Amino acid sequence: MKALLIKGGRLFDPASRVDAVGDLLIQGDRIAAVGSVERVGEEQVIEAAGLFVLPGLMDIHVHLREPGQEHKETIASGTRAAAAGGFALVACEPNTSPPRDTAARVREVLEIAARRAAVRVLPKCAITRGQQGEKVTDFAALRAAGAVAASDDGFAVADAGVMREAMAAAKRVRLPLTVHVDGPEMVERDIGLAAELDWRVHFSHVSLAEEVELIAGARDRGLRVSGEATPHHLSLCAEEAPEGDANFRVNPPLRSARDRAALRQGLADGVISVIASDHAPHSAEDKAQPYDQARPGVIGLETTVGVIWGELIRSGLVALETVVKATTSGPAEVLGIEAPALREGAMGDVALVDPECDWVVDPEQFQSKARNCPFAGRKLRGKAVATIVGGRVVMREDEIMELGAAA
Ligand SMILES: [Zn+2]
Repeated sequence: MKALLIKGGRLFDPASRVDAVGDLLIQGDRIAAVGSVERVGEEQVIEAAGLFVLPGLMDIHVHLREPGQEHKETIASGTRAAAAGGFALVACEPNTSPPRDTAARVREVLEIAARRAAVRVLPKCAITRGQQGEKVTDFAALRAAGAVAASDDGFAVADAGVMREAMAAAKRVRLPLTVHVDGPEMVERDIGLAAELDWRVHFSHVSLAEEVELIAGARDRGLRVSGEATPHHLSLCAEEAPEGDANFRVNPPLRSARDRAALRQGLADGVISVIASDHAPHSAEDKAQPYDQARPGVIGLETTVGVIWGELIRSGLVALETVVKATTSGPAEVLGIEAPALREGAMGDVALVDPECDWVVDPEQFQSKARNCPFAGRKLRGKAVATIVGGRVVMREDEIMELGAAA
């Protein structure tokens, strides 16, 4: 593989305290030099003047639907969507058919990803067998097979005794838990368990002001508790959503403008340390139902950058630095994995973002198989224009090169 030289971009990595116009050289799968780099000959060169050069973005909450619902999305199509959106790594939820509750099913995802994925894929495993909320899965075996976190996303683990057992088991093998938030009562209960058992808990798709407050309080007490918010909950609210449009039906639902303001404040304050799309592909049929019967969920991998750049950063609601951390070092910390970074020796995962690119969201152009997008027709400013994974360019100007296929 040729070395890759990214010339003259704005290198921006707040976790490494990097903010300067300069060059980046990737050799093999690692970053070899940051700053001012002369061409030595054979490198592949990307001219990045006017672009942000960021650590490869991470989305730790996506649904890839394989196995079982390949008509909605596959590991190949979902990771092509990730590459198109600037994401070098995704962690995928285990609510496939069947649910990912055995080591063999974790390995199956990794095997398919090795052959067909456009970006890195880290599988999560179920907290309970069949996601039934009753029997805790074998975390030791699942962790050994490659699961990076346990999640019963789609459902809350309703039985407090089962959740206590799950948290104790997760702690024994140092497996993070990312839990489906279903109202403040559930957040309060799991904060209590995190305190009692001295283990970490990460709350997915936080959406209510009260939930933000509870997480802030727990963090003030020194508990290892973190929160995540979606671009749709950060940018949309119930009052502004068109009535009866199933592409605005999500779980948890869009909240009030007051809740949205609290969520943005939580992000600005670091209480919410992760932005994740909860990319949830559905078929046209699933959505073409009376509103209350339509499947909840929206896709997000291809709009996250435009939405957070356009709606949050440009409007001055949240600092650029905060948003970049929440899509790079923040999620890496939650999973306890190496964070992408712009420094020598770091993994060669990079995203290039054009902050001035004006575009109109057209789901027909998406790499995802699904079209359930609440931002269709919206004008956004800010777009990922290149995605680099381990030194390999997997997306450039909307064109996708598959990692698995090229390896
Ligand atoms: Zn989800």
